[in-house]
Amino acid sequence: MTNNGVQTIERGKFVLRGGRVLAMDGVADVPPCRDVLVEDGMIAAIGTDLPAPGAEVVDARDMIVMPGFVEVHWHMWNSLWRGLSHDAPGYFALHRLARVYSTEEHYVALRYAATEAINAGVTTCHNWANALRDEDDAIAQAQALADSGIRARFGYGRLSGPALTEADFVRMQAWLDAHGDGLIDLGVVCHDAGNLRSEVMAARAMGLKTIAPHADLAGALDLLGPDFIFTHGPGTPPAFMQLLAARGVKIGLCPTTDPLIGAGLPPLLQFLDNGVALHDIGLSVDVTCQTCVDPFSAMRTVMNSARIAKKAGASFSEIIFRPGDPNDPTNGLMMPQTMLEMATANGARVLGLDAITGMLEPGKRADLIMVRTDDINMLPVAETDAAFQLVQHGQPANVDSVMVDGRFLKRGGQLQGVDVKRIMQDAARAHRNILARGKAAAGA
Ligand SMILES: [Zn+2]
Repeated sequence: MTNNGVQTIERGKFVLRGGRVLAMDGVADVPPCRDVLVEDGMIAAIGTDLPAPGAEVVDARDMIVMPGFVEVHWHMWNSLWRGLSHDAPGYFALHRLARVYSTEEHYVALRYAATEAINAGVTTCHNWANALRDEDDAIAQAQALADSGIRARFGYGRLSGPALTEADFVRMQAWLDAHGDGLIDLGVVCHDAGNLRSEVMAARAMGLKTIAPHADLAGALDLLGPDFIFTHGPGTPPAFMQLLAARGVKIGLCPTTDPLIGAGLPPLLQFLDNGVALHDIGLSVDVTCQTCVDPFSAMRTVMNSARIAKKAGASFSEIIFRPGDPNDPTNGLMMPQTMLEMATANGARVLGLDAITGMLEPGKRADLIMVRTDDINMLPVAETDAAFQLVQHGQPANVDSVMVDGRFLKRGGQLQGVDVKRIMQDAARAHRNILARGKAAAGA
């Protein structure tokens, strides 16, 4: 069932020389250029003209070197539904297809999704596996993540049926320990409000890092805590945002899907105004059957939405002509650096993975990307605002190289150790077969 996994790619010793390093470590960007030394899958050092005996030199000139993107909520299993529905009712109607997936098609869907993610610079994803029928489905999905080499949270969940138990989590944890290469850990996603309480208790008994509900939370408000991830956000009443803030619940905005279905722009300022901490808010891919993996456009949408919200009520001429505040170079507007932190370090914090990923810092795992600035939509300028270029100009095509845990999964613009053509063919075949089976089941 597996398709040439990346496990054979070695974690080498590399020095990335002369890139514009955006470390996302809370320290201001230090232009112009620095080196990053990677050894044993870890960031060993960051500095200028680093000595690196025995290291393979990677030319990072004209590149921005930064942490890989960390997304916090993604129904990867339904990536196969591309081109079928552009709205919310249509999307939810397609959930009938969950019954007709083969076990192998769970593998195919996850491999397809993870490969797109890596290509776009995502180094950590939260697989919101909410349609597992049995343990075979779960293992097929986890195997695809392991074969892809991406770092992942495996959010174990069921659309319906009995609640997951501690025994289910113990068995899945054992599988991940044995086969996950240290890159995949376990969480729970809860869809059935009736199962929520017992699943939360079981997850907490196991010490799982995240509890990710789409279920109605009305009967479970006492359970809310910092291990919860609340997703989406448009239309959330201020009082509920305040409750989430008080309980330390983490937030996953969905900047690509919520506007598409008409739900609203990502309500970043509203969450902040109601007390949610900025560092508790990350970005979700949500689904790729309706959008593509594009962390750059996600950041752009969140930043520009926040600027629109900030200027609400001002006339157009006021916005255009009112002089800025000389004491505030941001003019009160959301800035690109904040978006980059949200898409990297904050995402890691939302997932409880901030001790190991989300920033470039000696001792953290080497999850990083190199973004070309000599493509036609960018400009290789060493001392301008690199964050600004990334957020407003960047696109996945500019992602030259992607490293996860010290392994190059993309290098020189090419995905490594993976048969992309086969992954595409498998995904297209699975798409056709699932639709045909869905039609047959509907007619039966
Ligand atoms: Zn979701």
